Amino acid sequence: MSASELRSNPDNFCYRHPDRQSFVLCQRCLRTICAECQTQMPVGVICPECLRDQQKSSGAPRPRRAPRILRAVRSDDSRPLVTYGIIGVTFFAFVVGLIPGAGAVVQSLLALYPPLLYPQFSGTFQPWRLFTVLFVHSGFWHVGLNMLALWMLGRSLEPMLGRGRFLWLYLLSGLGGSVAVVLFGFTSAVVGASGAIFGLFGALLVIGRHIGANITGIAVVLGINLVITFLPLLTSGLGGGGGVQISWQAHVGGLAVGALVGLIYARTRTIRRRKLQIWLLGATAAALIALLAVPLALY
Ligand SMILES: [Zn+2]
Ligand SMILES: [Zn+2]
Repeated sequence: MSASELRSNPDNFCYRHPDRQSFVLCQRCLRTICAECQTQMPVGVICPECLRDQQKSSGAPRPRRAPRILRAVRSDDSRPLVTYGIIGVTFFAFVVGLIPGAGAVVQSLLALYPPLLYPQFSGTFQPWRLFTVLFVHSGFWHVGLNMLALWMLGRSLEPMLGRGRFLWLYLLSGLGGSVAVVLFGFTSAVVGASGAIFGLFGALLVIGRHIGANITGIAVVLGINLVITFLPLLTSGLGGGGGVQISWQAHVGGLAVGALVGLIYARTRTIRRRKLQIWLLGATAAALIALLAVPLALY
């Protein structure tokens, strides 16, 4: 099927809002619904018609309005709260790092330096660095550009995937970037969310392709980012931090894992395949962790 055929396929548009492209299916009638039309149920999201049917058949009265604090995060709320949360935590870590004397401490505790993951090489075992590296940045431009990209990508991806799946995508992509650093840049010290952000790029490309969205724009922005990645002059200039480099390994690893996770999501959209989806995500995580054993054999 060509991209334009996919684009004109009504299955990829909300059945109640035919101008809105969407990836999410009602888990009861399996029609496509946009973020506004989704209601979170224990089995996944359902559409307004199915919600009405279900309430009628169960004879249950309409649920009372939730208290204000719950209403802020109610499930038909399509704001990308996970995206905002990650941005908040990342900026918090950056601001803490600006306190005189604290910057070096933050980096020394949270940055990724692969030998510190292995008692055999360093006498210490600090596995949290595989993930905490995502929240440390080496300068204003580094954190600013990464968070701008996260905001742009998260706004389209998070409502499409749902909060939980978006968070898994971010963390698995970040892990993929870190594992790539361990495998291909064992002695480099690395900071930054770039691996996870390249994962979002990869997932958006795969999912966009799958639902026939126009992905040319994403592909161009991704291409520019990859060029920047491989121009050492530019990357060290953007990093601005002595000794800590933005790493191409993290970018490529994150991109590959993000694309894989995007493919898993695209192929397991229905509730029948939910178990398969969880199983595949777990297998991806396990495979990445298993790859961490490679340096033990190499060095
Ligand atoms: Zn439905
Ligand atoms: Zn809709």
